Amino acid sequence: MLNKKTIDDINVKGKRVLVRCDFNVPLIDGKITDETRLTAELPTLQKLINDGGRLILCSHMGKPKGEPVPTLSLAPVAKRLSELLGKEVVFAADREVVGENAKAAVAAMKDGDVVLLENTRYRVEETKNGEEFAKELASLCDVFVNDAFGTAHRAHASNVGVTKYVDTCVVGYLMEKEINFLGNAVDHPKRPFVAILGGAKVSSKLSVIENLLDKVDTLIIGGGMSYTFSFAQGGKVGKSLLEKDFAEYALKMIKKAEEKGVNFLLPVDTLAADDFSNDANTMIVKAGEIPDDYEGVDIGPETMKVYADALKDAKTIVWNGPMGVFEMPNFAKGTESIAEAMAASDAITIIGGGDSAAAVNQMGFGDKMTHISTGGGASLEFLEGKELPGVAAADDK
Ligand code: AMP
Repeated sequence: MLNKKTIDDINVKGKRVLVRCDFNVPLIDGKITDETRLTAELPTLQKLINDGGRLILCSHMGKPKGEPVPTLSLAPVAKRLSELLGKEVVFAADREVVGENAKAAVAAMKDGDVVLLENTRYRVEETKNGEEFAKELASLCDVFVNDAFGTAHRAHASNVGVTKYVDTCVVGYLMEKEINFLGNAVDHPKRPFVAILGGAKVSSKLSVIENLLDKVDTLIIGGGMSYTFSFAQGGKVGKSLLEKDFAEYALKMIKKAEEKGVNFLLPVDTLAADDFSNDANTMIVKAGEIPDDYEGVDIGPETMKVYADALKDAKTIVWNGPMGVFEMPNFAKGTESIAEAMAASDAITIIGGGDSAAAVNQMGFGDKMTHISTGGGASLEFLEGKELPGVAAADDK
């Protein structure tokens, strides 16, 4: 359980409360195409408004690299948030983020008012955890609330630096929920505990595999990373994604699984394509028998059955990473089959953000999962067993 102070432990009446949110939502032509991160933030904001705080919200959006980029302004978020909260969210347009405009907007606030600052990454110091910007943010508020789980694995000025200059620093409801769900699943799982890992590369999930092997009963591997395992075992992987330098690591993990008594499942068949395109010619081949001019793009039908079977009796399931190139509809079946099996399961089902969350939502299974994390990178680092700097910086209980 989270051992940090939360918004339930403080009194914000009449206080200026800086809330670090994760409003990094996808925007196309100024329109928000997925507002999950906005709706996920509402309980914290509603509570602080009801308690009479003066809310100063901040967030990053995309990668403007330290300068104002109009297409990455948070203005559309202020507009949509006003509608969702049913009250005006004043947008403090300000290329300095904490410049004259922002200061004036904050000075004019009454209890229960809400101001949203401009994209924190308009300032070059943000991602460098620069002291000047952290101090400026801190100067706006009496209390700091970090509710941005999606950036909790980064030590930036607006989520970590700022805490050095504010006396009271707590976490919000979203952060509390994310940490409790992921933490409970991993550290106190109902067994059998099954984890599914997919995605492009083994190299980006080394510590996750290693850490989870100490915790799970079954570890299922899919996606591009499975070909490095297949290659390591002497299989032919054709043009598939392969990280030869990690073949030895792959064998070490297979051995570790054996020693720990973990059921380690690798694909038994593969959908192979002669081109990295949705219209490519495809064939189903046995794992490790991919022709030279073909590449693995999804798990095969037999593997889908084996994996769905392995999920049947599970009591806790954690999933991070697609089983294939799911962005192309013809290569999405493996990823869909996992989403479907999880949706049908009675287990505690947790989706570790990113592509798997997008896939589950796209397929309409969102409400069938116990918890869908709002942070891909952060949940992955959490699954690695790392302490997240954004959480560590909050006051202890
Ligand atoms: P990651 O960010 O590591 O979770 O990887 C997600 C990406 O892996 C997605 O964009 C998928 O298209 C890609 N991916 C999954 N399986 C494969 C594969 N067999 N070949 C190439 N890319 C893959």
